[in-house]
Parts: sequence; C-alpha cells; structure tokens
Amino acid sequence: MNITILTTFPEMFAPLHQSILGRAQKAGVLSVREVDIRTYAANKHRNTDDAPYGGGAGMVMLAQPIVDAVRDAQGEHFCGKRIYLSPRGQTLTQQKAEELARESELILLCGHYEGVDQRALDLCIDEELSIGDYVLTGGELAAMVLVDCVARLVPGVLGSEESAVSESFTSGLLEYPQYTRPRAFEGLTVPEPLLNGNHAEICDWQLTQSLLLTLERRPEMARRYLEGRHFTRHERRVVDAALARFEAERAAKEATAPEAARPQEERTDDRKPEDLL
Ligand code: SAM
Repeated sequence: MNITILTTFPEMFAPLHQSILGRAQKAGVLSVREVDIRTYAANKHRNTDDAPYGGGAGMVMLAQPIVDAVRDAQGEHFCGKRIYLSPRGQTLTQQKAEELARESELILLCGHYEGVDQRALDLCIDEELSIGDYVLTGGELAAMVLVDCVARLVPGVLGSEESAVSESFTSGLLEYPQYTRPRAFEGLTVPEPLLNGNHAEICDWQLTQSLLLTLERRPEMARRYLEGRHFTRHERRVVDAALARFEAERAAKEATAPEAARPQEERTDDRKPEDLL
C-alpha cells in the first residue's frame, strides 16, 4: 500500500517510520511518504494560508497549494482514496480501517488553523474522516492514527508474532485480559485456565472474559455481537454461562450498593405509593 500525507509539518511524522511500520516499509510492503504542501505554494512568500472570507478568528489554508499537491501525488491513474482528516468527518472505526486497508493507495490531507478552503475539498477530496469528537490543532496526529490502524491490517505488515485476528473490535468483542511471565506478580496470579495447556479450555476462558468485559464497558457492542452471531452449540453454552454470571454479579453488586449509587429509575421503583404523594 502507498500512503502519501500532505502536510505543512512533514517533520512531525517520524513515528510512522519506526517499529512495525518502519520494518514494513523496509520490507517493501508499505510506503509512507510525507509531502510538504508549502513547496506547492505559488505565491512569492510560499504562504499556505490566508484570512477567512466573512471574517472571524484564525486562518484558512489556501486551495491552490493543496489542489496542486493532491494532483501531483495522485498522478494519472490514481485509483485509491483521497481523505481529509477533519472533525466534521465520519468517525474512523475498525470497520472503516478494514475497508481502507483494501485500497492500494491513500492520499491524506492534514488541515491546520481553522481548516481548509472548501474548494480544495470539493475539487480533490473523496471523503472526510474524524478520529473522534474532539478538536486537534492539526490533522497530523489524526493522519498518524489513521495510518497506524490501517497499515497494520495490510497483509505482510504485522509479523507472525503479532496478529490482528483476535483483537478488540475484530472479533466483535473487546479483547480478554492478557498475561505473561512471571506466574505471580505482587500477589496477583495468572488465571488457572491459561496455565494448563488445554486449548479448548483456554478458548472458553477467553470468550467468557471478552464477553464479560464487553457487557460491562460497551453494552451496545455486546448486544450487537449477541444478536448478529451464529454460535455453535458449545459456544452457546459458554455464552449463556457468561451471561448468567454477568447477571448474578450485577445483582450482587446492586444488592450491596449504597442507595445513592443506584440508578434513579430503580430508586423510583423502590418507592412506596405513599412516598409519591
Ligand atoms: N475549524 C475546524 C472545525 O471546527 O471543524 C477545526 C479546525 S482544527 C483546529 C485544524 C485541523 O485539525 C483540521 O483542519 C483537521 O485537519 C484537524 N483535526 C482537528 N480535529 C480533528 C479530528 N477530531 N479528527 C481529524 N482531524 C482533526
């Protein structure tokens, strides 16, 4: 996969050339290059921004250097995606990352200041993507997040010792807890099922833990998983046992929770008719 990042701060991207992505680039399965938008500025001072029409604080990035930089990056037969990192965009998800990982080329545009002249987006951007509902000072960190999560899904980028298969979101559940040596650390021990070498038991433990964690932290994700998946009879038994355990633990917690910590609607339910008068 070839990724071109258009930015006015190319020096910010050193992390994308280290570690796993650095190794993938050396091996030739991935290419990440940064292009300085400033070198495309046609004006005398190589400005890349100007004051907004209609007034207001901040500067807006000029259309001309961006359009020229995108056109130069895409060449004649571009068949990938041109993405502007923007808080207005659709939120980047694992599913979106999987979709983008199937492209052979990506061009990423990083905005700065108040953003980019709309005409540059209209002329040469296919899609806007946000990395979350918050505002960054520039698109560079967002581009790095996108490159990292997309590139690791490209075949050959992760080595055999790393795997994208059983991770949070990929399976539809959050990942189970992981442990490594030693067996005991500061009084905490590794759960027994992980130590006995019984593969089936390990799988059951991992599914149970994933489901319990997802039910607790991301109930909407757990619901989607439970509704959308076809289970084998054995998996169904493991899932039902995990659900029963979750319900029992929740009931026990609620029974011991102080009144104030319980949800309002439950407290209302507890009220006697005379309390309502
Ligand atoms: N005025 C813009 C708005 O309200 O939508 C925000 C501009 S922001 C200060 C500057 C640049 O940071 C944007 O052009 C965009 O490239 C990038 N950026 C900021 N937040 C982002 C986010 N959540 N996801 C992706 N890019 C973001």
